[in-house]
Amino acid sequence: MLKVGEKLYEGKAKILYATEDPALVIQYFKDDATAFNAQKRGTIMDKGVCNNKISSALFQVMEQAGVPTHFVKQLSDREMLVKRLEIIPLEVTMRNITAGGMSRMLGIEEGIVLKQPVFEWHYKSDPLGDPLMNDDHILALQLATTQELETIRRLSSKVNDTLKTYFATRGIDLVDFKLEFGRYRGHILLGDEISPDTCRFWEQGTKKKLDKDRFRRDLGDVEAAYQEMLRRVLG
Ligand code: UDP
Repeated sequence: MLKVGEKLYEGKAKILYATEDPALVIQYFKDDATAFNAQKRGTIMDKGVCNNKISSALFQVMEQAGVPTHFVKQLSDREMLVKRLEIIPLEVTMRNITAGGMSRMLGIEEGIVLKQPVFEWHYKSDPLGDPLMNDDHILALQLATTQELETIRRLSSKVNDTLKTYFATRGIDLVDFKLEFGRYRGHILLGDEISPDTCRFWEQGTKKKLDKDRFRRDLGDVEAAYQEMLRRVLG
């Protein structure tokens, strides 16, 4: 039996707590920040509050766009009630503009607008640094079924189209982002969070970075960037 309030899991940026309903858990957002597979650690003041509020708003936008998510409701500044998923150990990244890992892997500069979005599967493994994998790896290792991969691809595309438009109207270019999916009562739901920790946001015109790259690259004004993204989402 789960004890209400029992800590089920503590990750780098969030903690999961049990509720009286075994199908629901509380996702608590911390201010802890890590980068480069947790080799770099720090704290970003009120990041947890910003990410909880931004994610809560964006999950509702996703639901309206027809993307089922684990979101149930925002409970407090740092807590979100979510459906308890069986997480699939894959990270999806979608890219609209070159940056980060894609620029490093292919030796191309950041900031090139891609002719079409780039979809990537990564194996969720901190010790391995989330390596890139393809459909064959996933199917051969039975991490997910063909049908699940198809659903995740379709939903990820919908997330990208919806978020790109949503942020464009708020003066922000959506460069890339990471998603995680899980199983719940036979369905695939979008899980985790959608926030400046998991997306790259560039201000249109100035190209100012308003995401975790300010922490990763020691660019300063880290807290202000998270607050600015919250302001754009709520405004
Ligand atoms: N990302 C993430 N968690 C990870 C790796 C990447 O949320 O463990 C996000 C990252 O913030 C960016 C996108 O996924 O918005 C693509 O990241 P990339 O593959 O370029 O890796 P990075 O340069 O961050 O190492």
